Amino acid sequence: MTCRGGVGNRLLAGLPPEDIALLAPDLETVAIDPETVLSHAGDRIEHVFFPHSGAISLMIDMAGGQTVSTAAVGHEGAVGILAVLGPSPSAATAIVRAAGTASRIPAYRFHVAFNRSPPIRHAVQIHVRAMLMQFQLGAACNALHPVRARMARWLLYLRDHVDDDVLPLTQEALSQMLGVRRTTVTLLTRDLRASGAIRSVRRGQIEIDRSQLAAAACECYRTMRHEVEEIFSTHPARPSVLPVPDEASR
Ligand SMILES: [Zn+2]
Repeated sequence: MTCRGGVGNRLLAGLPPEDIALLAPDLETVAIDPETVLSHAGDRIEHVFFPHSGAISLMIDMAGGQTVSTAAVGHEGAVGILAVLGPSPSAATAIVRAAGTASRIPAYRFHVAFNRSPPIRHAVQIHVRAMLMQFQLGAACNALHPVRARMARWLLYLRDHVDDDVLPLTQEALSQMLGVRRTTVTLLTRDLRASGAIRSVRRGQIEIDRSQLAAAACECYRTMRHEVEEIFSTHPARPSVLPVPDEASR
């Protein structure tokens, strides 16, 4: 992987300079390419990745060979952050879905900085809150909402992280993420094309109409976006100093 430059990870961007300085000697900017596996389920977490751009899906592999994506990570989050608990196996397989760049740091070095820095611990808390929200809403979505609406939700998420209506995504990848057969994705793609939400499908590329796709997605897309913004605004990565009570108001 080689460096392509980046646009900024929200967790890192919120850290004060002195806390970034704790990480900087060990941070390495890398390109993340589609289908690259950043961590395998069950394997020890070796690196923590902070994406600046692109998108990663966290995949669960079932014994029967089925797979499903349980969450996605982009520039608002990180991959492998449970390494702060000490040497830990990865709970899911993290696969890059859209190319971008990330800063990565050896897990043990991030663990050391985590123990020394309250702002880094706070950034980890923000990420954990956002992931728990995503897991809970995702579980409800997978159980209650039709696969067509879930597919539209995933395509919108990728659209937000690619910043282009042409998504570099194969139908095979979609079937893995949604936990459905490839033929189901083909039928859904045909249906979304008929409604205008998908404009065209070429080899490895899906062109979408964002507003039409938003109409086809379930409420979970907007809810997840809103909740992430709430978490960042309620718990800013750089905590503000608590206001000192006014003498006159005591
Ligand atoms: Zn949903």
